[in-house]
Amino acid sequence: MKASLHRPTKALIDLGTIGDNISVVQTGLPQETAVFAVVKANAYGHGAVAVATYLERQVTGFCVATVDEGLELREAGIVKPILVLGVTPLEAVAVAVEAKLSLTVTSHGWVERLLETAMDLSQLTFHIKLDTGMGRIGFRESGAVLQALSALQERGAIFEGVFTHFARADEVDETAFQLQLAAFEQVLEVLPNRPKWVHTGNSATALWHPEAAFNMVRLGNVIYGLNPSGGDLPLPKGIKPALRLVSQLVEVKQLPAGQSIGYGGTYQTQELEWIGTVPIGYADGLVRSMQGFSVLVDGQLCPIIGRVSMDQITIRLPKRYDLGQQITLLGSDGERSLTAQDWADQQRTIHYEVLCLLSDRVYREYIFSKGVKV
Ligand SMILES: *Cc1c(COP(=O)(O)O)cnc(C)c1O
Repeated sequence: MKASLHRPTKALIDLGTIGDNISVVQTGLPQETAVFAVVKANAYGHGAVAVATYLERQVTGFCVATVDEGLELREAGIVKPILVLGVTPLEAVAVAVEAKLSLTVTSHGWVERLLETAMDLSQLTFHIKLDTGMGRIGFRESGAVLQALSALQERGAIFEGVFTHFARADEVDETAFQLQLAAFEQVLEVLPNRPKWVHTGNSATALWHPEAAFNMVRLGNVIYGLNPSGGDLPLPKGIKPALRLVSQLVEVKQLPAGQSIGYGGTYQTQELEWIGTVPIGYADGLVRSMQGFSVLVDGQLCPIIGRVSMDQITIRLPKRYDLGQQITLLGSDGERSLTAQDWADQQRTIHYEVLCLLSDRVYREYIFSKGVKV
């Protein structure tokens, strides 16, 4: 989908802030820890190509979820290592190898089927994924790991990394985290040799368990300025949201009492009211459950009234504002601010989902603030 440039609704993304957030996290990590920036899902809505291009000099590599996300980066000229975190279909292995994407190997069944093909595996670079308690993808037994390793290496494939993923690194109670860590260490011990990269760290692990991150971290949401724990655990000072979402009033009208607003007439004016229309809707990622939430106008909270439409919302204004009046949907305006966490609370979800759902229709404009060196 083409982004709608000819519309005042825009995500303003400060790439300098993303770079600064990485630096803040790095100050809490052992110095030799390599950073792979996770730019899956269009860099959590921030634009994968722009984010990766900006970060390429600062980080060691990138992680994506799918082969196509990796190809998009390669086509944009990214040359640093890229790790595909998800399970790659066998049909896509050749194209991934051709693009020098490292693949995640997660099961005996997958390896068996790969080995049945006559494919040349001598250029295949892979990381072994261990399922130490997430129950999703990855080997659960060291025997199967050793078998897969020797079979792949016999065919010339390159063992580049071993990793796991924590299900509960963002919680105050560390019990489950420690069990996963112990399971990971047990498998490491039986490996015939350690690969170049040993890693466990998503954002939460890097922030709150840096001692368990080994020699590489996969930093996702914290680099965009979000708190992986929601708000249960504190972020280090200096982490800031990188994305603002803004728009403008495209229509302002005064309606008498008793008029209904939007599909289904779910809102009725109670008195003479100023109603504004903002060109953003659920097709942009402002989902229907945002009805009743607020936007910022001139430093004040103004409620979203009536149903959220596909392309528009209606808000109640305290007074008349001119067409073109700035609307802040995410970010600060005066003393007040609205965060992805606020949106998530309204939607009874997590902020990850809020930003990933910002659709391609929303035009992304990039800012390169000088940033505060930490
Ligand atoms: C998405 C993902 C990450 C990044 O997680 P954040 O919580 O956003 O830091 C790291 N590792 C794996 C395997 C992932 O799928």
